Amino acid sequence: MQAIHVQNSLTRQKELFKPIEEGYVGLYVCGPTVYSDVHLGNCRTFVSFDVIYRYLRFAGYKVRYIRNITDVGHLEGDADSDAEDKISKKARLEKLEPMEVVQHYTLGFHDMMQLFNTLPPSIEPRATGHIIEQIEMIDQILANGYAYEANGSVYFDTPKYIAEGKPYGTLSGRVVEDLLQESRTNLKNQDEKRSPSDFALWIKADERHLMRWPSKWSIGFPGWHLECSAMSRKYLGAEFDIHGGGNDLKFPHHENEIAQNVGACSHGGARYWLHTNMLLMNGRKMSKSDGNTITPLQLLTGESEHVSKGFSPMVIRFFILQAHYSSTLDLTDDGLIAAEKGYHRLMEAQRNLLALSTTATSGALDVEIEDGISKLYEHMNDDFNTPRTLAALFDLSSKINGLAGGQIGLDKIGAAVLDRLKTEFVSFTQEVLGLLPTESAGGNSAVLEGLMSLILDIRKQARNDKNWNTADKIRDTLAELDVEVKDAKDGSTWTIK
Ligand code: AMP
Ligand code: ZN
Repeated sequence: MQAIHVQNSLTRQKELFKPIEEGYVGLYVCGPTVYSDVHLGNCRTFVSFDVIYRYLRFAGYKVRYIRNITDVGHLEGDADSDAEDKISKKARLEKLEPMEVVQHYTLGFHDMMQLFNTLPPSIEPRATGHIIEQIEMIDQILANGYAYEANGSVYFDTPKYIAEGKPYGTLSGRVVEDLLQESRTNLKNQDEKRSPSDFALWIKADERHLMRWPSKWSIGFPGWHLECSAMSRKYLGAEFDIHGGGNDLKFPHHENEIAQNVGACSHGGARYWLHTNMLLMNGRKMSKSDGNTITPLQLLTGESEHVSKGFSPMVIRFFILQAHYSSTLDLTDDGLIAAEKGYHRLMEAQRNLLALSTTATSGALDVEIEDGISKLYEHMNDDFNTPRTLAALFDLSSKINGLAGGQIGLDKIGAAVLDRLKTEFVSFTQEVLGLLPTESAGGNSAVLEGLMSLILDIRKQARNDKNWNTADKIRDTLAELDVEVKDAKDGSTWTIK
């Protein structure tokens, strides 16, 4: 098994990763709140954890990867009381069922994840499917004396928890005294809370809230932080290996998750907390309010003032992996153009490599190549360092291209080393980094072009023969596949919608 080191946000140290159970990893990542289209910042976080998941599997672990869907409880402005639930609000404004909103954006999220070639998690639990587990957890926290009921809502009692020396503020680095003093703008609910730092576990629903469940405290809904505590415990246990999310979630979301876990059952949940950094655009935080934003679709099509052209999903994935997950990543047109060149160079080297063969049993380059392969493992073992892994792949690429171009003789590499290089290069590129050649990652590849040209020829022939059934069947089937055929005088053209 590889010795993997991870930067643990909880201890602020790079630590050797030791799973609770040898050979198994429990990984929980906070998923999206499905009230709007997934944005590129979300995609960055999920692509980063996809690589972590992929590498753990590649390293031989059996991984149970849980990535939830937040479909209730996340309030406007990330408040924890008296604001409106994001999904409920969207449903009310658009006259939809909340579950219609949830379904629509969950499907959109899945499409995006598939486009960027992220593997589906082992379980994708929804907050609304785990209300009973959340109510049970509140019962336990109340029974242990770390929560109180006020006017049908239930709040976590932070001063009591802190007074007992429990670890509040450790993850986020917040000073407990500051937290206790912090004033909230929301005075009405502050009245209900004993301390401004307390947070809601259960919220009594007012008439605006469309999603509500009966409980012994009130008809209401769970606080946002509770779902991740309840679902991680249900599927991974009270103590598990890795919890991930964007670093904007460290406080209050993850800090409160730990408090709830300890309050319910004395365990803080994950041993290792991994946080991704934020995606910026042109040096500033990507933000809808000041127009400094681009949707994944705009980036793919190039229909945005921020980019000069469209970029393929694999180029965007490559761009994301060029930065370490814990560094900020600045999206710029120049950066994307450079990533496009880099991605194509990598794919070209891969193609060149697969066409190589040698009759030598050993060669002068063997040791250097073996060293280069070890570097791939070394960098991924070092907190999943994708930029360094890519750099090591490029070092190998220059040797591969030298061999392919004749500048380096094929007698310089032994057959066994060449075989290993083929396996490892393709494994790291495709299996670990998830970077597929464009032909298998969608797009108008030569094969696709050839097949479409054949299909359109058959359709043209059918129309000439007045065989309308066949012609219509081809058009309708293509339409079902989102391929739009346009007929013109000089032939038919096609586009993928
Ligand atoms: P949300 O849908 O807002 O709950 O976020 C889903 C995930 O995306 C969380 O792990 C967030 O931390 C992460 N996230 C949100 N904004 C960004 C961003 N600009 N860059 C990277 N990750 C982000
Ligand atoms: Zn969460």
